[in-house]
Amino acid sequence: MQKFILLGLIFTLSLYGIESYTVNIKTYQEGENHFIITRSFSDKGHLFYLSTNTQSLQTHIIPAHTIIPKALGAHFQTTLFSKLLRDATALHVKGGTPHARTQKPKAVFLTMDMCPSHKLGYERDFITYLTTLNGKTPIAIAITSAWIEHHPQAFEELRSHPLLDITWVNHTHTHFYDKTLPNHKNFMLHPDTDVAREILELEKTLIEKGMTPSVFFRFPGLIADETLMNALREIYFLIPLGADAWIAKHENVREGSFILIHGNKNEPEGITLLEQMLPQLLKRYTFKSIEEAFVP
Ligand SMILES: [Zn+2]
Repeated sequence: MQKFILLGLIFTLSLYGIESYTVNIKTYQEGENHFIITRSFSDKGHLFYLSTNTQSLQTHIIPAHTIIPKALGAHFQTTLFSKLLRDATALHVKGGTPHARTQKPKAVFLTMDMCPSHKLGYERDFITYLTTLNGKTPIAIAITSAWIEHHPQAFEELRSHPLLDITWVNHTHTHFYDKTLPNHKNFMLHPDTDVAREILELEKTLIEKGMTPSVFFRFPGLIADETLMNALREIYFLIPLGADAWIAKHENVREGSFILIHGNKNEPEGITLLEQMLPQLLKRYTFKSIEEAFVP
């Protein structure tokens, strides 16, 4: 009997998933590498941190007991991450950095948004075509909890795709949008937006599903203001990504472009156009991971 109660208790605990997911800013060093901790959470009674290498921008989830964290000091301001964060949040007009900050010959960067959608599945045929032509492909997927929740199978297929090398970009929890509202009251500029919830709940969803959120954020609709940019810089430590080659808007791809398509079937014209231009595009350019747009 006791055994059953114990098993029941363990099962109940694991159902709760991660708890106390919160902003927690600290720093630590490992050899020459400086890290910033930005979040903490507990999972089945153990404390974990989400940390970012301030030079490579790679994120990791680490058990808290494996490091000795310190308060964030002035040193952080000298790191590459800090500089990129200041630059990317300086202007809110295009919703973030629209183009590579590094000069890498022939590099372009593919970003795919997964806003909430009533359409079933995802742009599977496009992904199959892309990976058949290009082999393993780095892609930044801007994901929402709302899409994941309503497309569990499609999400599972996407995240375990053997030919995609995915950087998970935070595209918010609910991605509020009302087509009757003007931009300055829409998306995250809607007065009822709970910014902390929008940002943290998506990260929590990803971690519960076994993925590590990156340092990148994409504003729904690419719509932001100065207050939101300040929050990304001062509170959440996330680099906002714009796009200068939104394919459905017929924006041209050039070296260093952040290409934007929608993988949720809400913007088929962008998918069709990119499919048509892909053979020529791949003769001139190479898809690189979004981190490489920022790290020399
Ligand atoms: Zn979106």
